[in-house]
Amino acid sequence: MAESMSGMKRSHRCTEVSSANIGENVTVMGWVQKSRNKGGIIFVDLRDRSGILQIIFEESDCGQESFAKAEKLRSEFVIAVEGRVEARSGGVNENLATGAIEVRAKYLRILSESATPPFPIEENSKTKEELRLKYRYLDLRRPDIQRNLMTRSRVATLTRAFLAEEGFLEIETPTLIKSTPEGARDYLVPSRVHPGSFYALPQSPQLFKQLLMCSGYDRYFQLARCYRDEDLRADRQPEFTQIDLEMSFVDVDDVLDVNERLLKKLFKEVCNVDIALPIQRMTWQEAMDRFGSDKPDLRFGMELKNVSDVVKNCGFGVFTSALAAGGSVRGINAEGQGHMPRKKIDALVEYAKGFGAKGLAYASIGEDGSVKSSFAKFMTEEEMAALVSAMDGKPGDLLLFAADKNKVVYDVLGNLRLELARQLDLLKKDDFKFLWVTEFPLLEYSEEEGRFVAMHHPFTMPMEEDLQYIDSDPGRVRAKAYDIVLNGVEMGGGSVRIHQADIQSKMFEVLGFTQERANDQFGFLLEAFKYGVPPHAGLAYGMDRMVMLMVGADSIRDVIAFPKVKDASCLMTEAPSAVDEKQLKELGIEIAPQED
Ligand code: ASP
Repeated sequence: MAESMSGMKRSHRCTEVSSANIGENVTVMGWVQKSRNKGGIIFVDLRDRSGILQIIFEESDCGQESFAKAEKLRSEFVIAVEGRVEARSGGVNENLATGAIEVRAKYLRILSESATPPFPIEENSKTKEELRLKYRYLDLRRPDIQRNLMTRSRVATLTRAFLAEEGFLEIETPTLIKSTPEGARDYLVPSRVHPGSFYALPQSPQLFKQLLMCSGYDRYFQLARCYRDEDLRADRQPEFTQIDLEMSFVDVDDVLDVNERLLKKLFKEVCNVDIALPIQRMTWQEAMDRFGSDKPDLRFGMELKNVSDVVKNCGFGVFTSALAAGGSVRGINAEGQGHMPRKKIDALVEYAKGFGAKGLAYASIGEDGSVKSSFAKFMTEEEMAALVSAMDGKPGDLLLFAADKNKVVYDVLGNLRLELARQLDLLKKDDFKFLWVTEFPLLEYSEEEGRFVAMHHPFTMPMEEDLQYIDSDPGRVRAKAYDIVLNGVEMGGGSVRIHQADIQSKMFEVLGFTQERANDQFGFLLEAFKYGVPPHAGLAYGMDRMVMLMVGADSIRDVIAFPKVKDASCLMTEAPSAVDEKQLKELGIEIAPQED
């Protein structure tokens, strides 16, 4: 039996009712969280997105008809209640915002009944995520997810207000665009009108925002949905949202300045975190040398040390051969971990191998200063002492070393550092450490493709002083590119763009594009650059990640209303799905038989 609500009007959300309303009549509507019949008196916890309010039904107040309905209430029934606010009779419930009051019902309507939900609607659900995502509309009723989405909405609202105040225009760019794959794989949409032709869904609004600068819009932003068809790693979504912006007549400092003020406002108003400005800056090279990562987590130390010079003449072949091959030997000092049992160290070695290490050399320093080491027999006492001293090793410390190509050494020690921090519980969720990483390399050599690829994207401006190396030593050229990192997570990134057609053509050449292919894919941009381009620069945040960090969620799925799972499917709607033969025919598409 579902009744209409005609003649009733909600006066308050559940937790908008407070002690200030005692003695007043209110009308509240929402879902039954739970209902307890204590014989002649029925207690109902009523829930809406604001929280929970206790309602009391007694036949003498609400009459026989409403009481009979109240007896039928089950979890997730939707009801409307009119009643009087009273001080709570059974003592104050400190756990509830409305714990000091209750509503004595005078009148009840059941607006909708509910089948028994497949899992309880409660905070910190223990239900398996697959089941929750299949019934996402029920999962979204849970208070923790509701809070996350409210935070997300607040981030959007504050961002819009701040950027508008700073003179940014919100402009939408198309989501059916030309495919220009460079970076991730595009999602393609077949065209019915042009059989055999495809649109792509944008990986970002990059080219359009640059064109908007060409058109004089000067400061643009958009909360933009972006799509990347990647083999999904643990915490990626095929579609995600960027806070995307672009500015004209600016250089690196101008972009960083406006963005750190935006971050300061967001983090203050949303999570009461004070960011001291300016945010610390570090070049990419320094980040790699000190933390083995281009997104260092600054909540703890354990920095990398380059000991190549110290060990270059030692007797340990693993060290010297890595150096001879042009690599390096670096280490980290896990302070106070000298007592770590062999089994745990072996597990760390295995962990390091997962990042390409052939092994891991270690030395534990006893409380008496004696050194126990996996490679002691290859070193003289003096050599070992010099190494320990270079690592600031003190009694009780554990030193871990990697010797390999620089890339491997960084990767191994950077990850080992994080793994140790996790094991030692050094990563506090309420500690927010922001960092700008700047001067990224412009290019990165891809073994897979046998050519240089853009580290950020092909429109990123090289640093002027490095332009001279672009032909002779492309790997050496640094870019005017920057990332904003929070607690080891890349929250956003951007760059100053190339606005000179000749440098842009050069860039395409270095990336191995023929003139023809550059024209075919990006001709409209190169053409636009012929008609007066302002110098411009921009940045985009991963909004999902940002909100995830703000609310301390473990997964970005917890801050997206209807997320997809690892294989890019939606468990609720079962997308993607097969389509009608007729639809395919209209598109001129035939499905090739699948090989296993
Ligand atoms: N479009 C870039 C990205 O998605 C961000 C930017 O350079 O503004 O990473």
